[in-house]
Amino acid sequence: MIKYNLHTHSFYCGHGKGTMEEYARAGFENGLEILGFSEHLPFPDGRLSSSRMDYSEKKDYERDVLVEKERYEGKMKVCLSWECDYFPDMDGYYQQLKEETDYLIVGTHFLQKDGGYQSLFSSKYKLTKEDLKCYADSTIKAISSGYFDFLAHPDVFFLNYENFDSEAKAVSIAILDAAEDVGIPIEANGNGLVRPSRFPRPGYPLLEFWQLARERKITFVRNTDAHVVENLTKSIPMLEEFASRVGIKYAYPVSFNPLSFKTE
Ligand SMILES: [Zn+2]
Ligand SMILES: [Zn+2]
Repeated sequence: MIKYNLHTHSFYCGHGKGTMEEYARAGFENGLEILGFSEHLPFPDGRLSSSRMDYSEKKDYERDVLVEKERYEGKMKVCLSWECDYFPDMDGYYQQLKEETDYLIVGTHFLQKDGGYQSLFSSKYKLTKEDLKCYADSTIKAISSGYFDFLAHPDVFFLNYENFDSEAKAVSIAILDAAEDVGIPIEANGNGLVRPSRFPRPGYPLLEFWQLARERKITFVRNTDAHVVENLTKSIPMLEEFASRVGIKYAYPVSFNPLSFKTE
């Protein structure tokens, strides 16, 4: 299996560290054959600006990735991507990005509620049963839009929702059914295995969610979602161990723009 990571952040997002040059060097030294940079997408109107680069930095980020792409030409494939939050009023923007990048990731990071945004990652917030429905609705809308190549951390809501109760199971099934219908791959995310958890289990990926996923015809990918250079490949063995516990096999990328995967 090709050693790859398609989901990588950097200092650009403001809550990550490390330059593209540092990640690319670490990736190459750790034997990655494919390294994809996927910063949180900035929006021209500045929405969600507290969790990402300013829109004015978009070109700098793209240039930094292209420098590494050239540096490792023939040795390691370096890809340009974005991790996108989905807003239906931005359809033209995603269409443009599809043409500028190797692939696009989608992930839900915020709940739109009370006229504002609630982060799913806040350590001060526990999700309610209503929030779960809101998460599932926006995630299903996002994957059904057709702009994105895979869904990042589909089970991220378990970071701040403790039990796999009937509500959690129902929204898990809704998301997985939609992913199967749409034909979009889903990601087992290594950042959830290395980040602190408020529960006596990793925040995500959640075993019960992936046991349901295993029963469906869905392509599974695994990425580290590194926000610091030391984590670029650190969670890969943990993700492999997770897959054998669930009883699934991950796919690996075989072509870009459009991104396609193969499972051995
Ligand atoms: Zn994410
Ligand atoms: Zn990410």
